[in-house]
Amino acid sequence: MKSAACRPTLLVSAIATAVFVWTALLLFSPGSKGTAAVASNVGLIVAAAVGASACYMRSRRGGPQRRSWLLLGSGALSWGLGACAWTAYETLGRQAPIPSWADVGYLGAVPLLAAGLLTLPGTPVRWPARVRLLLDGALIAAALLAISWVLVLGPLINNGKDGLVQVFALAYPLGDIVCGSLAVVSLARAPHQAQVPLRTLLLVCLGLLSFSVGDTGFALLTLRDTYQSGQLIGLGWCGGWALLAVAALQPSGAPSEPSGENLRHRAWMSTSAPYVPLLAMVGILGVWRSTHGALGRIVVLDLLLMLLLVVVRHVLTQRENDQLTSSLEARVLDRTEALSGWEQWWKALVQNSTDIVTVVRADGTVRYQTPSVQSVFGYDAQDLLETDIADVFLEPDRHRLRQCLAAAALAPGEPLTFSGGVRHADGSDCATESTVMSLLHEDAVQGLVINTRDISERMQLESELNHRAFHDELSGLANRALFRDRLIHALNQRDRVGLAIGVLFIDLDRFKEVNDTLGHAYGDELLVVIARRLTELVRPGDSVARLGGDEFAVLLEHLTTPDEAQFVADRLVEVIAQPVHVREVDVRVRASIGITIAEIDDAELADLDAPDSADVMLRNGDIAMYRAKSAGGGACEWYRPELHTALLRRVEIEKQLRNALTDDELSLVYQPTASVATGIFTGVEALVRWDSRVLGKVLPNEFIPVAEDTGLIIDLGAWVLHHACVQAAVWLRNGVRADFTLAVNVSGLQLLSSGMVDTVRSALTLSGLPAENLLLEMTESVLLERTDQTLARLHELKRLGIRLAIDDFGTGYSSLSYLSRFPVDVLKVDRSFIAQLQQESSNERELTRTIIQLGGSLAMLTVAEGVETPEQLASLRALGCDLAQGYLFSEPRPPDEIEPMLARADDAPAAALPSAAALPPAALPPAAHPT
Ligand code: C2E
Ligand code: CA
Ligand code: CA
Repeated sequence: MKSAACRPTLLVSAIATAVFVWTALLLFSPGSKGTAAVASNVGLIVAAAVGASACYMRSRRGGPQRRSWLLLGSGALSWGLGACAWTAYETLGRQAPIPSWADVGYLGAVPLLAAGLLTLPGTPVRWPARVRLLLDGALIAAALLAISWVLVLGPLINNGKDGLVQVFALAYPLGDIVCGSLAVVSLARAPHQAQVPLRTLLLVCLGLLSFSVGDTGFALLTLRDTYQSGQLIGLGWCGGWALLAVAALQPSGAPSEPSGENLRHRAWMSTSAPYVPLLAMVGILGVWRSTHGALGRIVVLDLLLMLLLVVVRHVLTQRENDQLTSSLEARVLDRTEALSGWEQWWKALVQNSTDIVTVVRADGTVRYQTPSVQSVFGYDAQDLLETDIADVFLEPDRHRLRQCLAAAALAPGEPLTFSGGVRHADGSDCATESTVMSLLHEDAVQGLVINTRDISERMQLESELNHRAFHDELSGLANRALFRDRLIHALNQRDRVGLAIGVLFIDLDRFKEVNDTLGHAYGDELLVVIARRLTELVRPGDSVARLGGDEFAVLLEHLTTPDEAQFVADRLVEVIAQPVHVREVDVRVRASIGITIAEIDDAELADLDAPDSADVMLRNGDIAMYRAKSAGGGACEWYRPELHTALLRRVEIEKQLRNALTDDELSLVYQPTASVATGIFTGVEALVRWDSRVLGKVLPNEFIPVAEDTGLIIDLGAWVLHHACVQAAVWLRNGVRADFTLAVNVSGLQLLSSGMVDTVRSALTLSGLPAENLLLEMTESVLLERTDQTLARLHELKRLGIRLAIDDFGTGYSSLSYLSRFPVDVLKVDRSFIAQLQQESSNERELTRTIIQLGGSLAMLTVAEGVETPEQLASLRALGCDLAQGYLFSEPRPPDEIEPMLARADDAPAAALPSAAALPPAALPPAAHPT
């Protein structure tokens, strides 16, 4: 790299030294003139050869200048060959003829050199500038022509030679004019030839000028017949080729953006170069005029031509300038307009913005205030001028604002934020947020810029959202997230306070039904009432939350004994159960409550941190509540670890139950009902069975409540109704007695579901079972909820012609007053009464008697459930009960086992029942079935 860089420098030095030595040799040639001539000739050939070689080398470097260097090198080569021919003539001692091979070489150099110069790369010049450049070239050429005319051309033309000799004689100076003019024009074009390094360009042009001067000198001397090889005039050519060689050896230089300095030099060269030939012309013509007198016609014409060119050029330049000025003016005008537009725009923006922009001095006095302060804070912008900005802020924030201003002043250009309260002109307080930035150093501003906006609405919204995030919108109570937070907090405090913490998990029973039947708006109002009752009941330190839907929770802090939690829970059950009067309707809801407490040395929570403990407590409360609910609701239940397993089972049942219907896992069994008096089977009760592929056999007592909670009971009930009716119709067709009764159980949700009546109607129609053969059983509790609606539904069903029964009578509210209001045909006495019939001490017997009598007085058939022993049957007969059902007669069995037991229409009444002592219950044969 280093050697490559220093090689050109070495070569340049070598060339300079050679030229120097050669010049010295010519000046002080030791021997004869012949020696000087040989030295001169050889030197010139060598110089041309060096020039040509350097140019060729340069062209081999490639790039956009490649062609130019090839042409320039060829020019040098052509000239060198001419010089060889000349030397040959001289060496042979012969006068070179005209034209000779030497002329061909010399003159051939001119077009090649000219072409080399013209093809140097430059930016394309557009119309006016191009014409101007042409005019400049013509001017330069005219100046050089004038010089050449008086020195060479004129005398040559006048020397009387003619023909070919004259033509060749004139060709030399004309070629020199062309070369010289082009060199000067090239220099004048320097600013447009940024791709050619300035120094290279200068060297090439000087080389060509040197060549032209040498050539002209040669022509001059030849004209006077004083030329001899070895004269100093040869330095023109030698210097020309040397300069060309040095130019070619210059580093190509990346065509980068020319520097400012470089541009200035180029501009300077461009303007001064044309003057050189003009000055030379003036000087030479001046000397000529004084020594030779008149300048001659041609020179005068030439001068006139130059004058014309100058005028044309001037006019052209003037026009160009005018155009430039007017376009410049137009642009300035456009720009000014645009700027004033911007200014207006900015003004409008600042003044109409809801942001308030204030410019204050370092001490806080207002220098500028946007009018927006009027609409936002009610102040007149003018009134604020020269007052302390801190004054509009609230007292507690003023000091902080001053500190902020001082800090901003110390950090110019850096925005600081500040939030504080501003006193509105109407006296109210506004929350604001400001950005303060120091532009004290900016001449246009010279102040601290405060950008203020009113964020009161945003703050209010934020706090509302915050409240929303942690509160239940409907009841205003804390929500689950806040409750959990409070529980965590309490758990953290627990160790310090040394007291237990209790969580009551409350869920309203059958709230979904209230929602479904009375509407959501009603349900919402009910929830609000319950929420109020809860809040009123707990101690001030305890929290109540609505966890979602009909789920509430109470956090009991500082419990001294677990009994306190029990006490509160009992009170809650009681209070919630009191009728709620909403929109003229009385509704009774009950609640199931799960209780869980965290004691100081709680083993389950020992290894857990507060958040995990909180989650465990919430889960445990939930499990206990579930337990309370599945046990019938309206009660509370303590959490015990075993409940967890029960819950998991329940969850699993729920999951599997969804598939039971579609996967055909359900079936029906039938349990006969017999006449107490005769023992004849009068009908059957359909009971559903579930044989789950995953869980095995699941009892109705386990899955029916789940089906009720999940709403699946509606589909399940419809399925039972349909299949049971189809089965009963088959039995009827097969000849069982016409008053045969099919009893089907109906749940509360199912009864009130909108499709209930249609379901029953279509079950009857599709199966062909007469309506009077169907008996629907529903429990007391079902009848007692939402009595009006239920009553309406019962009447609708009755209109279909079916009969209705009250199931499990005696286990519910035991309020008998309502009985007469319902269109019920059958009363089924719960088996808990029957089980105790035999115990002499109990008053169940009396109660059972009353129930049976009551049924009788209301014209209802009475059915005793769960009759297991002949003694029970005997007692029932004594009490006057109509029908009985129980293991004494038959367990629930599949239809094919039941059919043979059913009494035929043509059957004679059974004579007698087996005596109570004679048979064990399970082995009792079907009483009315003739084998
Ligand atoms: P339930 O309506 O009171 O039905 C009578 C229940 O008592 C049946 O239990 C039956 O097997 C049982 N049982 C019958 N005789 C005796 C006896 O002598 N001693 C004893 N200890 N029990 C006897 P199961 O089938 O387990 O049904 C339980 C409950 O499930 C039913 O009570 C009924 O409330 C409900 N259930 C059954 N099938 C359906 C149905 O299709 N729809 C609806 N909604 N509920 C149903
Ligand atoms: Ca039943
Ligand atoms: Ca029952």
